[in-house]
Amino acid sequence: MKPSKLLATLAALTLALSLSFTTASQAQEADKLPNYVPVLPQVKARALAVDPQKGYLVKQVKPDVYVITDGIYQSAFVTTGKGVILFDAPESFAQHIVKAVTETTKEPIVQLVYSHAHLDHIAGAGLLVKQVPKLVIVAEEGTAAFLREKKDPRRPIPTSTFKNQHTLKLGTMTVELKKGQWHSPEGDLFVYLPQRKFLMAIDTLAAGHVPFMDFDLSTNMHAYLKVFDQLMSYDFDVLVPGHLTYLADRQDVQMSKDYALDVYKTVKRIHDGTDQMKVMSAAAQKYSWDNKFAIFRTLLDGVVAQCAAEIQGRWIDKLAAVDVFGTSHCRAALIYARWDD
Ligand SMILES: [Zn+2]
Repeated sequence: MKPSKLLATLAALTLALSLSFTTASQAQEADKLPNYVPVLPQVKARALAVDPQKGYLVKQVKPDVYVITDGIYQSAFVTTGKGVILFDAPESFAQHIVKAVTETTKEPIVQLVYSHAHLDHIAGAGLLVKQVPKLVIVAEEGTAAFLREKKDPRRPIPTSTFKNQHTLKLGTMTVELKKGQWHSPEGDLFVYLPQRKFLMAIDTLAAGHVPFMDFDLSTNMHAYLKVFDQLMSYDFDVLVPGHLTYLADRQDVQMSKDYALDVYKTVKRIHDGTDQMKVMSAAAQKYSWDNKFAIFRTLLDGVVAQCAAEIQGRWIDKLAAVDVFGTSHCRAALIYARWDD
């Protein structure tokens, strides 16, 4: 064997060995992780099929209305006869957006609407304005004010703003935009196409699943608990909720509402029914009364744990991931029930 060939063989062997070591250590790490129930079969059956080689899927959901997803994030666009209006530009599939639109329609992208200021849903806009320099970017004033302050090249400052609500008309399409408060402190947006019964409300819920952590990172539980009725007040049959490989319908909104209210009522009942002095006195035996945060934490953790156990028992067969995020929901609802309610 020539020395160069020997070296190549050794290199290949080393690589193979290092790969197998990595795999073994990964398996060890995985063993330490908690167990969660698999996604429910009835939920899995609804998943949109994203080709992993392609990295994204364009799905027509209504005449002239399309959803783009990479399986984790969702955006949408409409053709109007006078150009495409795009709703959100997630960073995770930003490089595919222009291609996704051009393989669907000859109309150019002319407008982009920001649903809210969060990076994960709009930070692909920086790349998009390089490809579409005359892009009009529409946002509610609260979102726009935040982005003016951030001066973030990934999230270009909106060129067209409105306060609270605005009807956007372009070509054949009417888009009703209305500010909401369910998720981000700067404001969220209902995007509604009345001619198509199509609604977009990002970071509200996840179809077939419980909401993401802390009720979809809501910074306003009071408003979050109202969002389901607000959604239902629209005459829609397709809802783009922003995440995962699923589109939502009215039944998903109702299920998410029932779940959120159950968590809230459960944690409130347990909290109000707890003998707080008894729990804290027991904790003080261990921590002493000096360590008031430790004592208080024991009280709150106990309420959250009881709530999570009850909620899991009632929802584990109905919505996916209640064992993943149910505890965070009980905690978020407890903060609201104890300090706001
Ligand atoms: Zn968000």
